[in-house]
Amino acid sequence: MNKIALLKEDITKVPADAIVNAANTSLLGGGGVDGAIHRAGGPAILAECQKIRNRQGGCKVGDAVITTAGNLPAKYVIHTVGPHWHDGRHDEETLLKNAYLSCFKLVEKYGIHTVSFPNISTGIYRFPKVLAAEIALGVINQCLRDNPNIEQVNLVCFDQENYDLYLKIMDEQRAN
Ligand code: ADP
Repeated sequence: MNKIALLKEDITKVPADAIVNAANTSLLGGGGVDGAIHRAGGPAILAECQKIRNRQGGCKVGDAVITTAGNLPAKYVIHTVGPHWHDGRHDEETLLKNAYLSCFKLVEKYGIHTVSFPNISTGIYRFPKVLAAEIALGVINQCLRDNPNIEQVNLVCFDQENYDLYLKIMDEQRAN
């Protein structure tokens, strides 16, 4: 059974146990999907991010932390920090993989059954979109195999380019 759903949507509108945020190391909010999540979720999310900051000083690139989802249609927000793309020689691929893996560690720990991901690092952080999609699908497929408790992973694309290229890669994978 295919547990991956590809959506073209605003991630703040998609009900799921957990919504993943493409945050930054400060955890204090920012532009893009981060701004949308804090706007729609309300101040409870930022309040928990502040507590985490006070405890551990933010979140490293490739790591993830979990908070309430405030007013969002979810129980949790998982904040992960993807890498900035420089030139491909700064561990960008490993760091993006780690960002997805860190989210799945929290998914397992918190018994989460459904989780929505944005296209981490492909906006302001300028990670090449095709490479980011291949990395994301590789980790997601592996984690679905390793954790049978996960019922659904939503890949929530906001821009048409990401949606089209995910569709293409997923069609190719199904054909093979
Ligand atoms: P990053 O800094 O990790 O690149 P961005 O938020 O700039 O984070 O972009 C990550 C992805 O999130 C981009 O593909 C962007 O189109 C997408 N995005 C922006 N707003 C939303 C939203 N409301 N829902 C889902 N995805 C979004």
